[in-house]
Amino acid sequence: MANKTLGLDQNLYQYIQGVSLREVEVLQQLRKETQRHPMAIMQIAPEQGQFMALLVQLMGAKKTLDIGVFTGYSALVIALALPADGQVIACDIDEKTTKIAQEFWEKAGVSHKIDLCLAPALESLDKLIAEGQNNTFDFAFIDADKSNYDNYYEKALWLVKPGGLIAVDNVLWGEKVADVEIQDNRTKKIRKFNEKLYQDPRISLSLLPIADGLTLALKK
Ligand code: CA
Repeated sequence: MANKTLGLDQNLYQYIQGVSLREVEVLQQLRKETQRHPMAIMQIAPEQGQFMALLVQLMGAKKTLDIGVFTGYSALVIALALPADGQVIACDIDEKTTKIAQEFWEKAGVSHKIDLCLAPALESLDKLIAEGQNNTFDFAFIDADKSNYDNYYEKALWLVKPGGLIAVDNVLWGEKVADVEIQDNRTKKIRKFNEKLYQDPRISLSLLPIADGLTLALKK
């Protein structure tokens, strides 16, 4: 896992950040707060957050899903990019980290746009499907436990509308996916997931080497 863009030398990375990263203060504060957490590396890279915010704006997205909240950076960066009547349904099971998330959503003045579902994400997604919310979401971000990536993807594919976008984080998994010697379970799952999407006719596909690898799947 990596929370900066892989494969760039430090000098070039810093240059890119220096001429393009426009991380607003509340996001900077959340990043600082998250640094104290032992799993801080789970936070998305700021350049990735900014890119996703741009996608959401580009699409004119209103209804979005955030699967895997952690301390709330992705939900916050998306909520800030959404119009006033935009919505993020944010799924996570961790009461402690989502408490930090909620504090910062409040601080940023966007908590009214974010509905936190504190339950296993598969259950929350099943509930949305059961409620008939299929084909209603514009954007979904998958960044939760890697063992369930395929399940999250299948459910997100029900929930987003045709022309809607699913973004999937950590698909390069700290470069491990490309090393055939590495055969641990999570690496194998991500590799298999990437191969599945490559063959999936239901989507248009792009895998970007931004941060730890971000797959974009546009539902046809
Ligand atoms: Ca991630």
